Amino acid sequence: METNQLYLYNSITGKKELFEPINNPYVGMYVCGPTVYGDAHLGHARPAITFDVLFRYLKHVGYKVRYVRNITDVGHLENDADSGEDKIAKKARLEQLEPMEIVQYYTDRYHANMQDLNVLSPSIEPKASGHIIEQIEFIERIIKNGYGYVENGSVYFDVLKYNEKHNYGILSGRNIDELINNTRTLEGQEEKKNSFDFALWKKAQPQHIMRWNSPWSVGFPGWHLECSAMGEKYLGEVFDIHGGGMDLKFPHHECEIAQSVAANNKHAVKHWVHNNLITINGQKMSKSLNNFITLDEVFSGKNALLNQAYSPMTVRFFILQAHYGGTLDFSNEALLAAEKAMARMCKAFDVIDKLVISNTSSIDFNSYKKRCYDALNDDLNTPILLAVLFDVVKSINLIKEGKETIDAVNLSVLKEIVSGFFNEILGLINQSSVSTKSNSIDTLMEVILELRKNAKTNKDYATADYIRNKLSEVNIKINDTKDGANWFIE
Ligand code: ZN
Repeated sequence: METNQLYLYNSITGKKELFEPINNPYVGMYVCGPTVYGDAHLGHARPAITFDVLFRYLKHVGYKVRYVRNITDVGHLENDADSGEDKIAKKARLEQLEPMEIVQYYTDRYHANMQDLNVLSPSIEPKASGHIIEQIEFIERIIKNGYGYVENGSVYFDVLKYNEKHNYGILSGRNIDELINNTRTLEGQEEKKNSFDFALWKKAQPQHIMRWNSPWSVGFPGWHLECSAMGEKYLGEVFDIHGGGMDLKFPHHECEIAQSVAANNKHAVKHWVHNNLITINGQKMSKSLNNFITLDEVFSGKNALLNQAYSPMTVRFFILQAHYGGTLDFSNEALLAAEKAMARMCKAFDVIDKLVISNTSSIDFNSYKKRCYDALNDDLNTPILLAVLFDVVKSINLIKEGKETIDAVNLSVLKEIVSGFFNEILGLINQSSVSTKSNSIDTLMEVILELRKNAKTNKDYATADYIRNKLSEVNIKINDTKDGANWFIE
């Protein structure tokens, strides 16, 4: 059974490892969600889609998956550092709104984008601000175990002390000497023993509006802490998969590992999975290069970098065309190519119900099905899976042209491949077949074929040919069969 053969790359060991749930058939998966202070951009689509496919696949093979994807609504400071303004508080100040109004507004917009991209909702979507008590309790354990120190009402993680017994850098590959040499001391960080120590709790400055009581001060939790605390709360001290973008490896995930080991003396995560990033025309997305494209802009085409609007399904297809671990460059050419490729695939899938069933099949669709599973079991290789589906498309077209045959058994396997891999696991939607426009064309064509059949019955071959030739001019091809006629869009 395919269930036992999924190999997933583990960012810590650098190897593909057989995926075996700690508590089969239950699987716990945690993915770092967005910090909700602005519209979701292309960079948000990739982790969302990558882990959506993993979530879908694990469910497909029969696991009971609890997928936790958090919303960061407090503690994420500017420049991902321990100083500076809270990203959400800053936006609230600029917009003259309550921080939670900002959180609600951008969370709703994020959800709308995810729905457009056909990304399933996670099982639980916890917010950092709703788990302050859990985070305080987590810090208390870290302090009790000797890895946290209080200074001026703030609590910091003692990286050097931790590194005596454990390995700070196990995920990112950074070592302490490098950190000592390369870390600048930032303003306001003098109270730390070392500049690379990170905040577990920060005492709030008078102007800081998002603040809670704690044993140490009125303040707020450090950014890395929420994921450790919420992961443990919903998935247990040790769980199967933790995912996120590669940019989160350091410091965010490295710090999460250290926090869990410091609190519980064990690694919380069995498989660390990271998706690579999206570049735009070969460049990293950044505010300074002014090349951020929001998902709304992609879907509407309203951005100077875009030649046209691209549908959410085109974006999804484009992202799946690359392996999640590889780089992916966004360009109009690449998006247009994805749009065309997806249309070609959908066009072939549209004719499946019209294929003529023979007594024998010249194509073995079970071998395609096996190749689909092989692709996903090899570290979720979606580009290979799409390549197999294009081979399926070729076969469909050959059957349509009468050059190959398909029997009823293989036809049902073919339908299983499309509904299972294209729809259910890759989460792609064939928009040509769901649109009302397409349904009306079906009805329209039925009427036209009926008129043409009547013309032929009345030996009015001129009219019959006229209909066929006119439709052929707009790439609608009519095939005469023994029992009547069928049609395809060329
Ligand atoms: Zn996180």
